[in-house]
Amino acid sequence: MNRPAPVEDSPEHAWQRARELLLARFGPEVYRAGIEGLQFAGADDHVLRLLAPTSTAANWMRLHYPGSLEEALKSIGRPRRIDILVAGRAQGELFPGEQAIGKRKPIRFGALVPRYTFSTFIVGASNQFANAACKAVAAQPGHHYNPLFLYGGVGLGKTHLANAIGHAAMEGNPDARVAYLSAEAFMTQLITALRRDRMDEFKSTFRKIDVLIIDDVQFLANRERTQEEFFHTFNALHEAHRQIILTSDKVPKDIPGLEERLRNRFEWGLIADLQPPDMETRVAILEKKAEIDGLDLPREVAIHLASKIDSNVRELEGCLTRLSAFASLSKTAITVDFAREVLHDLLKERSTVSIETIQRVVCEYYGVRLSDLLSQKRSRNIAFPRQVGMYLSRRLARASFPAIGERFGGRDHSTVIHANKVVEDRLKTDQRLRGSLDELERLANTKA
Ligand code: ADP
Ligand code: MG
Repeated sequence: MNRPAPVEDSPEHAWQRARELLLARFGPEVYRAGIEGLQFAGADDHVLRLLAPTSTAANWMRLHYPGSLEEALKSIGRPRRIDILVAGRAQGELFPGEQAIGKRKPIRFGALVPRYTFSTFIVGASNQFANAACKAVAAQPGHHYNPLFLYGGVGLGKTHLANAIGHAAMEGNPDARVAYLSAEAFMTQLITALRRDRMDEFKSTFRKIDVLIIDDVQFLANRERTQEEFFHTFNALHEAHRQIILTSDKVPKDIPGLEERLRNRFEWGLIADLQPPDMETRVAILEKKAEIDGLDLPREVAIHLASKIDSNVRELEGCLTRLSAFASLSKTAITVDFAREVLHDLLKERSTVSIETIQRVVCEYYGVRLSDLLSQKRSRNIAFPRQVGMYLSRRLARASFPAIGERFGGRDHSTVIHANKVVEDRLKTDQRLRGSLDELERLANTKA
Protein backbone atom coordinates (compact mmCIF):
# COMPACT_ATOMS: atom_id res chain seq x y z
CA MET A 1 0.00 0.00 0.00
CA ASN A 2 1.15 3.53 -0.62
CA ARG A 3 1.38 5.55 2.49
CA PRO A 4 -0.75 8.66 2.35
CA ALA A 5 1.45 11.73 2.03
CA PRO A 6 1.93 13.44 5.35
CA VAL A 7 0.03 16.65 5.75
CA GLU A 8 2.09 19.79 5.10
CA ASP A 9 3.56 21.04 8.32
CA SER A 10 2.81 17.90 10.26
CA PRO A 11 5.79 16.59 12.25
CA GLU A 12 5.97 13.75 9.80
CA HIS A 13 6.22 16.17 6.94
CA ALA A 14 8.90 18.08 8.80
CA TRP A 15 10.90 14.88 9.13
CA GLN A 16 10.54 14.23 5.43
CA ARG A 17 11.89 17.67 4.59
CA ALA A 18 14.72 17.26 7.08
CA ARG A 19 15.66 14.02 5.35
CA GLU A 20 15.80 15.78 2.01
CA LEU A 21 18.10 18.39 3.49
CA LEU A 22 20.30 15.70 4.94
CA LEU A 23 20.45 13.92 1.61
CA ALA A 24 21.45 17.14 -0.14
CA ARG A 25 24.05 17.91 2.48
CA PHE A 26 25.71 14.51 2.99
CA GLY A 27 25.06 12.73 -0.28
CA PRO A 28 23.44 9.39 -1.09
CA GLU A 29 25.99 7.15 0.61
CA VAL A 30 25.71 8.71 4.01
CA TYR A 31 21.97 8.99 3.47
CA ARG A 32 21.63 5.30 2.83
CA ALA A 33 23.87 4.33 5.71
CA GLY A 34 22.43 6.54 8.37
CA ILE A 35 19.16 8.20 7.46
CA GLU A 36 17.14 6.13 5.09
CA GLY A 37 16.31 3.52 7.72
CA LEU A 38 14.97 6.01 10.24
CA GLN A 39 11.22 5.98 10.16
CA PHE A 40 8.95 8.60 11.58
CA ALA A 41 7.25 7.20 14.68
CA GLY A 42 5.48 10.08 16.34
CA ALA A 43 6.10 13.49 17.86
CA ASP A 44 4.99 15.95 20.43
CA ASP A 45 5.94 19.60 20.99
CA HIS A 46 9.44 18.78 22.18
CA VAL A 47 10.37 15.43 20.81
CA LEU A 48 10.37 13.82 17.42
CA ARG A 49 10.48 10.04 17.62
CA LEU A 50 12.10 7.89 15.00
CA LEU A 51 12.24 4.16 14.66
CA ALA A 52 15.42 2.41 13.56
CA PRO A 53 15.65 -1.22 12.49
CA THR A 54 18.76 -1.90 14.60
CA SER A 55 20.71 -0.16 17.33
CA THR A 56 23.61 0.32 14.90
CA ALA A 57 21.31 2.18 12.54
CA ALA A 58 19.95 4.19 15.43
CA ASN A 59 23.43 5.39 16.43
CA TRP A 60 25.10 5.74 13.08
CA MET A 61 24.43 9.43 12.48
CA ARG A 62 25.13 10.33 16.07
CA LEU A 63 28.43 8.58 15.87
CA HIS A 64 29.55 9.99 12.55
CA TYR A 65 27.76 13.33 12.34
CA PRO A 66 26.70 14.25 15.85
CA GLY A 67 23.92 16.78 16.10
CA SER A 68 23.23 16.77 12.36
CA LEU A 69 19.68 15.44 12.64
CA GLU A 70 18.66 18.11 15.14
CA GLU A 71 20.37 20.72 12.99
CA ALA A 72 18.37 19.73 9.95
CA LEU A 73 15.12 20.07 11.87
CA LYS A 74 16.23 23.40 13.23
CA SER A 75 17.07 24.71 9.81
CA ILE A 76 13.47 24.15 8.72
CA GLY A 77 12.20 25.89 11.82
CA ARG A 78 11.38 22.78 13.84
CA PRO A 79 13.75 22.72 16.77
CA ARG A 80 13.12 19.41 18.49
CA ARG A 81 14.93 16.79 20.42
CA ILE A 82 15.17 13.50 18.54
CA ASP A 83 14.56 10.14 20.17
CA ILE A 84 15.48 7.10 18.17
CA LEU A 85 13.81 3.91 19.24
CA VAL A 86 15.10 0.58 18.18
CA ALA A 87 12.45 -1.56 16.55
CA GLY A 88 11.46 -4.56 18.58
CA ARG A 89 12.23 -2.80 21.82
CA ALA A 90 9.50 -0.25 21.46
CA GLN A 91 6.62 -1.05 23.76
CA GLY A 92 3.36 -2.27 22.39
CA GLU A 93 4.65 -2.53 18.89
CA LEU A 94 2.64 -4.68 16.58
CA PHE A 95 5.32 -5.50 14.08
CA PRO A 96 8.61 -5.30 15.90
CA GLY A 97 11.67 -5.35 13.73
CA GLU A 98 9.95 -4.29 10.59
CA GLN A 99 12.33 -2.48 8.31
CA ALA A 100 11.62 1.16 7.89
CA ILE A 101 11.08 1.23 4.20
CA GLY A 102 9.54 -1.12 1.76
CA LYS A 103 9.90 -4.41 3.52
CA ARG A 104 7.10 -6.11 5.32
CA LYS A 105 7.46 -8.63 8.03
CA PRO A 106 4.68 -11.09 8.52
CA ILE A 107 4.82 -10.94 12.28
CA ARG A 108 1.55 -11.68 13.95
CA PHE A 109 0.24 -9.84 16.88
CA GLY A 110 -1.12 -12.06 19.58
CA ALA A 111 -0.30 -15.52 18.34
CA LEU A 112 -2.96 -17.44 16.52
CA VAL A 113 -3.83 -20.68 18.27
CA PRO A 114 -1.97 -23.30 16.21
CA ARG A 115 -4.62 -26.01 16.34
CA TYR A 116 -7.52 -23.73 15.39
CA THR A 117 -7.38 -24.31 11.65
CA PHE A 118 -9.95 -25.17 9.00
CA SER A 119 -8.66 -28.71 8.88
CA THR A 120 -9.50 -29.33 12.54
CA PHE A 121 -12.91 -27.71 12.26
CA ILE A 122 -15.80 -30.10 11.73
CA VAL A 123 -18.47 -28.81 9.43
CA GLY A 124 -22.13 -29.64 9.90
CA ALA A 125 -25.45 -27.99 9.22
CA SER A 126 -25.04 -25.74 12.26
CA ASN A 127 -21.86 -24.06 11.07
CA GLN A 128 -21.72 -24.74 7.34
CA PHE A 129 -22.61 -21.21 6.34
CA ALA A 130 -20.18 -19.57 8.73
CA ASN A 131 -17.44 -21.97 7.67
CA ALA A 132 -18.00 -21.20 3.99
CA ALA A 133 -18.01 -17.45 4.63
CA CYS A 134 -14.76 -17.74 6.59
CA LYS A 135 -13.11 -19.73 3.82
CA ALA A 136 -14.16 -17.21 1.20
CA VAL A 137 -12.74 -14.39 3.29
CA ALA A 138 -9.51 -16.25 3.97
CA ALA A 139 -9.00 -16.97 0.27
CA GLN A 140 -9.27 -13.32 -0.73
CA PRO A 141 -9.06 -11.05 2.28
CA GLY A 142 -10.70 -7.70 1.73
CA HIS A 143 -12.62 -8.82 -1.34
CA HIS A 144 -15.76 -10.37 0.06
CA TYR A 145 -17.84 -9.62 3.09
CA ASN A 146 -16.11 -6.83 4.88
CA PRO A 147 -16.45 -6.95 7.80
CA LEU A 148 -17.25 -10.58 8.41
CA PHE A 149 -19.22 -10.71 11.63
CA LEU A 150 -19.40 -14.13 13.30
CA TYR A 151 -21.80 -14.63 16.11
CA GLY A 152 -23.02 -17.49 18.22
CA GLY A 153 -23.29 -18.83 21.74
CA VAL A 154 -20.40 -19.72 24.00
CA GLY A 155 -18.14 -22.53 22.87
CA LEU A 156 -19.55 -22.93 19.38
CA GLY A 157 -16.35 -22.23 17.46
CA LYS A 158 -16.16 -18.46 16.87
CA THR A 159 -12.60 -18.15 18.10
CA HIS A 160 -11.66 -21.32 16.27
CA LEU A 161 -12.96 -20.08 12.91
CA ALA A 162 -11.52 -16.61 13.37
CA ASN A 163 -8.10 -18.14 13.96
CA ALA A 164 -8.56 -20.44 10.98
CA ILE A 165 -9.01 -17.39 8.75
CA GLY A 166 -5.79 -15.96 10.13
CA HIS A 167 -3.84 -19.14 9.41
CA ALA A 168 -5.26 -19.54 5.93
CA ALA A 169 -4.66 -15.88 5.05
CA MET A 170 -1.03 -16.29 6.05
CA GLU A 171 -0.71 -19.45 4.04
CA GLY A 172 -2.14 -17.70 1.01
CA ASN A 173 0.18 -14.75 1.45
CA PRO A 174 3.11 -15.17 3.82
CA ASP A 175 3.60 -11.40 3.78
CA ALA A 176 0.09 -10.69 5.00
CA ARG A 177 0.03 -8.89 8.28
CA VAL A 178 -2.52 -10.70 10.35
CA ALA A 179 -3.46 -9.31 13.71
CA TYR A 180 -5.61 -11.39 16.02
CA LEU A 181 -6.64 -9.92 19.32
CA SER A 182 -9.56 -9.86 21.67
CA ALA A 183 -11.53 -6.65 21.99
CA GLU A 184 -10.20 -6.56 25.52
CA ALA A 185 -6.60 -6.70 24.30
CA PHE A 186 -7.38 -3.94 21.84
CA MET A 187 -8.53 -1.82 24.74
CA THR A 188 -5.46 -2.63 26.79
CA GLN A 189 -3.23 -1.61 23.88
CA LEU A 190 -5.14 1.59 23.54
CA ILE A 191 -4.86 2.45 27.21
CA THR A 192 -1.13 1.75 27.19
CA ALA A 193 -0.68 3.96 24.15
CA LEU A 194 -2.64 6.75 25.75
CA ARG A 195 -0.70 6.51 28.97
CA ARG A 196 2.65 6.57 27.21
CA ASP A 197 1.61 9.30 24.87
CA ARG A 198 2.01 7.01 21.90
CA MET A 199 -1.27 7.37 20.10
CA ASP A 200 0.40 8.20 16.79
CA GLU A 201 2.22 4.93 16.89
CA PHE A 202 -0.87 3.07 17.97
CA LYS A 203 -2.80 4.47 15.05
CA SER A 204 -0.16 3.96 12.44
CA THR A 205 0.53 0.42 13.56
CA PHE A 206 -3.08 -0.65 13.49
CA ARG A 207 -3.56 0.92 10.13
CA LYS A 208 -0.85 -1.23 8.60
CA ILE A 209 -2.74 -4.43 9.25
CA ASP A 210 -4.01 -6.47 6.31
CA VAL A 211 -6.29 -8.80 8.23
CA LEU A 212 -7.60 -7.58 11.55
CA ILE A 213 -9.42 -10.09 13.72
CA ILE A 214 -11.10 -8.78 16.82
CA ASP A 215 -12.59 -11.46 19.02
CA ASP A 216 -15.55 -10.90 21.32
CA VAL A 217 -16.49 -7.38 20.29
CA GLN A 218 -19.40 -7.45 22.72
CA PHE A 219 -16.70 -6.51 25.19
CA LEU A 220 -16.63 -3.03 23.63
CA ALA A 221 -20.05 -2.36 25.16
CA ASN A 222 -20.00 0.94 27.04
CA ARG A 223 -16.28 1.59 26.46
CA GLU A 224 -16.72 4.88 24.69
CA ARG A 225 -13.09 5.79 24.18
CA THR A 226 -12.22 2.36 22.87
CA GLN A 227 -15.23 2.40 20.58
CA GLU A 228 -14.23 5.74 19.19
CA GLU A 229 -10.70 4.62 18.41
CA PHE A 230 -11.93 1.38 17.01
CA PHE A 231 -14.34 3.27 14.80
CA HIS A 232 -11.46 5.19 13.24
CA THR A 233 -9.31 2.11 12.89
CA PHE A 234 -12.22 0.32 11.27
CA ASN A 235 -12.81 3.10 8.77
CA ALA A 236 -9.16 3.42 7.84
CA LEU A 237 -8.82 -0.31 7.23
CA HIS A 238 -12.12 -0.66 5.46
CA GLU A 239 -11.34 2.18 3.11
CA ALA A 240 -8.03 0.56 2.26
CA HIS A 241 -9.82 -2.75 1.54
CA ARG A 242 -8.21 -4.57 4.38
CA GLN A 243 -10.15 -7.44 5.84
CA ILE A 244 -11.87 -7.08 9.18
CA ILE A 245 -13.27 -10.05 11.07
CA LEU A 246 -15.32 -9.64 14.20
CA THR A 247 -16.81 -12.17 16.56
CA SER A 248 -19.45 -11.70 19.18
CA ASP A 249 -21.93 -13.65 21.25
CA LYS A 250 -24.70 -11.40 19.95
CA VAL A 251 -25.74 -9.78 16.70
CA PRO A 252 -24.67 -6.12 16.49
CA LYS A 253 -28.10 -4.76 17.25
CA ASP A 254 -28.29 -6.74 20.48
CA ILE A 255 -24.98 -5.57 21.89
CA PRO A 256 -26.00 -3.09 24.52
CA GLY A 257 -24.01 0.11 24.85
CA LEU A 258 -22.62 -0.09 21.34
CA GLU A 259 -22.55 3.22 19.50
CA GLU A 260 -24.96 3.44 16.61
CA ARG A 261 -22.23 4.25 14.09
CA LEU A 262 -20.23 1.16 15.06
CA ARG A 263 -23.30 -1.04 14.98
CA ASN A 264 -23.96 0.31 11.56
CA ARG A 265 -20.42 -0.53 10.40
CA PHE A 266 -20.66 -4.02 11.85
CA GLU A 267 -23.69 -4.65 9.69
CA TRP A 268 -22.02 -3.54 6.48
CA GLY A 269 -20.60 -6.87 5.48
CA LEU A 270 -21.85 -10.33 6.20
CA ILE A 271 -23.25 -11.61 9.47
CA ALA A 272 -22.86 -15.36 9.87
CA ASP A 273 -24.10 -17.35 12.81
CA LEU A 274 -22.92 -20.48 14.54
CA GLN A 275 -25.59 -22.73 15.98
CA PRO A 276 -25.15 -25.63 18.38
CA PRO A 277 -24.03 -28.65 16.38
CA ASP A 278 -26.40 -31.53 15.78
CA MET A 279 -25.80 -35.03 17.06
CA GLU A 280 -23.74 -36.27 14.09
CA THR A 281 -21.54 -33.21 14.15
CA ARG A 282 -20.96 -33.55 17.88
CA VAL A 283 -19.90 -37.15 17.44
CA ALA A 284 -17.59 -36.15 14.58
CA ILE A 285 -16.06 -33.36 16.67
CA LEU A 286 -15.37 -35.79 19.51
CA GLU A 287 -13.84 -38.33 17.19
CA LYS A 288 -11.67 -35.72 15.51
CA LYS A 289 -10.44 -34.47 18.83
CA ALA A 290 -9.77 -38.01 20.04
CA GLU A 291 -7.80 -38.65 16.87
CA ILE A 292 -5.72 -35.49 17.36
CA ASP A 293 -5.03 -36.46 20.97
CA GLY A 294 -4.25 -40.05 20.06
CA LEU A 295 -7.08 -41.34 22.19
CA ASP A 296 -8.92 -44.57 21.54
CA LEU A 297 -12.54 -43.51 21.71
CA PRO A 298 -15.16 -46.12 20.83
CA ARG A 299 -18.03 -44.86 18.74
CA GLU A 300 -20.67 -45.72 21.36
CA VAL A 301 -18.85 -43.62 23.96
CA ALA A 302 -18.71 -40.69 21.57
CA ILE A 303 -22.45 -41.08 21.01
CA HIS A 304 -23.07 -41.29 24.73
CA LEU A 305 -21.20 -38.03 25.38
CA ALA A 306 -22.75 -36.29 22.43
CA SER A 307 -26.22 -37.21 23.61
CA LYS A 308 -25.56 -35.80 27.06
CA ILE A 309 -24.09 -32.48 25.98
CA ASP A 310 -25.74 -30.82 23.08
CA SER A 311 -25.15 -27.11 23.28
CA ASN A 312 -21.50 -26.33 23.85
CA VAL A 313 -18.51 -27.82 22.09
CA ARG A 314 -16.11 -26.59 24.72
CA GLU A 315 -17.93 -28.63 27.37
CA LEU A 316 -17.98 -31.59 25.08
CA GLU A 317 -14.23 -31.33 24.73
CA GLY A 318 -13.91 -30.86 28.47
CA CYS A 319 -15.64 -34.20 29.05
CA LEU A 320 -13.32 -35.89 26.62
CA THR A 321 -10.25 -34.43 28.31
CA ARG A 322 -11.46 -35.61 31.67
CA LEU A 323 -12.29 -39.03 30.37
CA SER A 324 -8.89 -39.32 28.76
CA ALA A 325 -7.11 -38.27 31.95
CA PHE A 326 -9.02 -40.78 34.07
CA ALA A 327 -8.51 -43.56 31.56
CA SER A 328 -4.78 -43.05 31.40
CA LEU A 329 -4.41 -42.72 35.18
CA SER A 330 -6.40 -45.85 35.90
CA LYS A 331 -5.10 -47.62 32.79
CA THR A 332 -8.65 -48.52 31.85
CA ALA A 333 -10.19 -48.80 28.44
CA ILE A 334 -12.85 -46.21 27.73
CA THR A 335 -16.31 -47.74 27.76
CA VAL A 336 -19.76 -46.25 28.13
CA ASP A 337 -19.95 -47.47 31.74
CA PHE A 338 -16.58 -45.99 32.49
CA ALA A 339 -17.67 -42.69 30.93
CA ARG A 340 -20.87 -42.69 32.98
CA GLU A 341 -18.92 -43.20 36.14
CA VAL A 342 -16.23 -40.62 35.45
CA LEU A 343 -18.57 -37.97 34.17
CA HIS A 344 -21.32 -38.64 36.66
CA ASP A 345 -20.97 -35.28 38.45
CA LEU A 346 -20.54 -33.29 35.31
CA LEU A 347 -23.52 -34.79 33.60
CA LYS A 348 -25.79 -34.93 36.61
CA GLU A 349 -25.91 -31.17 36.91
CA ARG A 350 -27.22 -31.00 33.45
CA SER A 351 -29.87 -33.64 33.84
CA THR A 352 -32.58 -31.58 32.30
CA VAL A 353 -36.21 -31.59 31.58
CA SER A 354 -37.03 -33.59 28.48
CA ILE A 355 -38.71 -32.10 25.46
CA GLU A 356 -41.64 -34.53 25.96
CA THR A 357 -42.24 -33.16 29.44
CA ILE A 358 -42.18 -29.62 28.12
CA GLN A 359 -44.63 -30.47 25.39
CA ARG A 360 -46.94 -32.13 27.94
CA VAL A 361 -47.02 -29.17 30.33
CA VAL A 362 -47.39 -26.66 27.50
CA CYS A 363 -50.40 -28.59 26.19
CA GLU A 364 -52.01 -28.75 29.61
CA TYR A 365 -51.32 -25.11 30.35
CA TYR A 366 -52.73 -23.77 27.09
CA GLY A 367 -55.39 -26.44 26.65
CA VAL A 368 -54.02 -27.69 23.35
CA ARG A 369 -53.86 -31.27 22.09
CA LEU A 370 -50.39 -32.74 21.64
CA SER A 371 -51.27 -33.86 18.10
CA ASP A 372 -52.17 -30.26 17.27
CA LEU A 373 -49.01 -28.94 18.86
CA LEU A 374 -46.96 -31.19 16.60
CA SER A 375 -49.13 -30.67 13.52
CA GLN A 376 -48.68 -28.21 10.69
CA LYS A 377 -51.67 -26.13 11.85
CA ARG A 378 -50.87 -22.47 12.03
CA SER A 379 -53.83 -20.96 13.85
CA ARG A 380 -52.69 -18.58 16.52
CA ASN A 381 -54.10 -20.48 19.51
CA ILE A 382 -51.86 -23.37 18.50
CA ALA A 383 -48.92 -21.58 16.91
CA PHE A 384 -48.06 -19.53 19.96
CA PRO A 385 -48.08 -22.42 22.49
CA ARG A 386 -45.91 -24.27 20.01
CA GLN A 387 -43.45 -21.38 19.93
CA VAL A 388 -43.42 -21.28 23.72
CA GLY A 389 -42.72 -25.01 23.74
CA MET A 390 -39.77 -24.53 21.40
CA TYR A 391 -38.48 -21.65 23.47
CA LEU A 392 -38.63 -23.71 26.67
CA SER A 393 -37.04 -26.71 24.98
CA ARG A 394 -34.09 -24.51 24.19
CA ARG A 395 -33.77 -23.24 27.73
CA LEU A 396 -34.82 -26.15 29.90
CA ALA A 397 -33.92 -29.13 27.75
CA ARG A 398 -30.87 -27.35 26.31
CA ALA A 399 -31.62 -28.96 23.00
CA SER A 400 -30.16 -27.69 19.74
CA PHE A 401 -32.34 -25.86 17.23
CA PRO A 402 -32.38 -28.72 14.73
CA ALA A 403 -33.15 -31.22 17.52
CA ILE A 404 -36.07 -29.12 18.70
CA GLY A 405 -37.39 -28.69 15.17
CA GLU A 406 -37.19 -32.43 14.70
CA ARG A 407 -39.25 -33.09 17.82
CA PHE A 408 -41.84 -30.47 17.03
CA GLY A 409 -43.29 -32.16 13.99
CA GLY A 410 -40.14 -32.22 11.86
CA ARG A 411 -39.74 -28.49 11.48
CA ASP A 412 -36.74 -26.72 10.13
CA HIS A 413 -34.23 -25.26 12.61
CA SER A 414 -34.89 -21.79 11.23
CA THR A 415 -38.48 -22.11 12.41
CA VAL A 416 -37.21 -22.82 15.91
CA ILE A 417 -34.87 -19.83 15.79
CA HIS A 418 -37.79 -17.71 14.70
CA ALA A 419 -39.96 -19.07 17.52
CA ASN A 420 -37.29 -18.16 20.04
CA LYS A 421 -37.16 -14.69 18.71
CA VAL A 422 -40.92 -14.26 18.77
CA VAL A 423 -41.04 -15.26 22.42
CA GLU A 424 -38.02 -13.14 23.34
CA ASP A 425 -39.50 -10.10 21.62
CA ARG A 426 -42.82 -10.54 23.32
CA LEU A 427 -41.16 -10.90 26.68
CA LYS A 428 -39.85 -7.38 26.34
CA THR A 429 -43.32 -5.92 26.50
CA ASP A 430 -45.56 -8.63 27.89
CA GLN A 431 -45.26 -9.05 31.65
CA ARG A 432 -47.89 -11.77 31.80
CA LEU A 433 -45.89 -13.95 29.47
CA ARG A 434 -42.95 -13.85 31.90
CA GLY A 435 -45.30 -15.16 34.60
CA SER A 436 -46.58 -17.91 32.31
CA LEU A 437 -43.07 -19.02 31.43
CA ASP A 438 -42.05 -19.17 35.08
CA GLU A 439 -45.10 -21.25 35.84
CA LEU A 440 -44.42 -23.56 32.91
CA GLU A 441 -40.85 -24.00 34.04
CA ARG A 442 -41.99 -24.88 37.54
CA LEU A 443 -44.50 -27.40 36.20
CA ALA A 444 -41.95 -28.97 33.88
CA ASN A 445 -39.49 -29.35 36.73
CA THR A 446 -42.00 -31.04 39.03
CA LYS A 447 -43.04 -33.46 36.31
CA ALA A 448 -39.55 -34.21 35.09
P1 ADP B 1 -16.31 -19.61 21.04
O1 ADP B 1 -15.20 -18.68 20.66
O2 ADP B 1 -17.47 -19.56 20.10
O3 ADP B 1 -16.75 -19.49 22.46
P2 ADP B 1 -14.32 -21.64 20.55
O4 ADP B 1 -13.95 -21.30 19.16
O5 ADP B 1 -13.38 -21.26 21.62
O6 ADP B 1 -15.78 -21.11 20.89
O7 ADP B 1 -14.61 -23.22 20.60
C1 ADP B 1 -14.60 -23.94 21.82
C2 ADP B 1 -13.87 -25.24 21.59
O8 ADP B 1 -14.64 -26.08 20.77
C3 ADP B 1 -12.54 -25.05 20.90
O9 ADP B 1 -11.60 -25.92 21.45
C4 ADP B 1 -12.82 -25.42 19.47
O10 ADP B 1 -11.70 -25.96 18.83
C5 ADP B 1 -13.92 -26.44 19.61
N1 ADP B 1 -14.86 -26.45 18.49
C6 ADP B 1 -15.98 -25.69 18.35
N2 ADP B 1 -16.62 -25.99 17.22
C7 ADP B 1 -15.89 -26.93 16.61
C8 ADP B 1 -16.02 -27.66 15.37
N3 ADP B 1 -17.06 -27.46 14.55
N4 ADP B 1 -15.08 -28.58 15.07
C9 ADP B 1 -14.04 -28.80 15.89
N5 ADP B 1 -13.86 -28.15 17.05
C10 ADP B 1 -14.76 -27.24 17.42
MG1 MG C 1 -14.21 -17.25 21.79
